[in-house]
Amino acid sequence: MELLKQEIVKRGKVLPGHVLKVGSFLNQQMDVGLLSQMAGDVYARFKDKGVTKILTVEASGIALAVLVAERFKVDAVFAKKSKTANVEGNVYSAECYSYTHKKSNTLIVPEEYIEKMDKVLVVDDFLANGEAIRSLKSIVEQARATLVGAAIAIEKGFQGGGDKLREEGVDVYSLAIVESMDQEGLTFRN
Ligand code: 5GP
Repeated sequence: MELLKQEIVKRGKVLPGHVLKVGSFLNQQMDVGLLSQMAGDVYARFKDKGVTKILTVEASGIALAVLVAERFKVDAVFAKKSKTANVEGNVYSAECYSYTHKKSNTLIVPEEYIEKMDKVLVVDDFLANGEAIRSLKSIVEQARATLVGAAIAIEKGFQGGGDKLREEGVDVYSLAIVESMDQEGLTFRN
């Protein structure tokens, strides 16, 4: 998506450790007009797939997920991050190593929020090694629901997580794929 790429170039900051900071327009401060256009793009890509639920992970995926859910006129669910591995009760859970925080969390979704007949579109702000999407995929599988695909704002293509998921048959759609980045600048995949 051209507009998102322009904003990444203009407002994004490349931090050490291959982290792209987009806090000024996608995360802590949100350019809602841009996010809304991004949601429209995601809707156009998946509108014929019968999506019944949007699933994301707290916190930074929620803004885009809510706007995507509004387009589809379905509910958005976010997985909560728990520090404890031993989760009890009627929940689906999956381990997830956080790339930015360098620690493991357990992602949790109450069973009642995803049903067997749901067609789930997973949404997130970033895709790096693919851990977050893989964990959300596991939660969809535990619910015996159908994973329609994964819609991502920014994929860091050089980390390989997205291509691996595509090889495994997941329909990964990223609005911008960063092919390389350093302090000098960044390039996108066409
Ligand atoms: P993955 O699980 O694919 O390795 O990483 C994706 C998750 O880590 C996303 O949910 C996102 O919050 C976070 N993340 C990964 N790379 C970056 C990055 O470069 N910048 C930001 N802001 N978050 C990132």
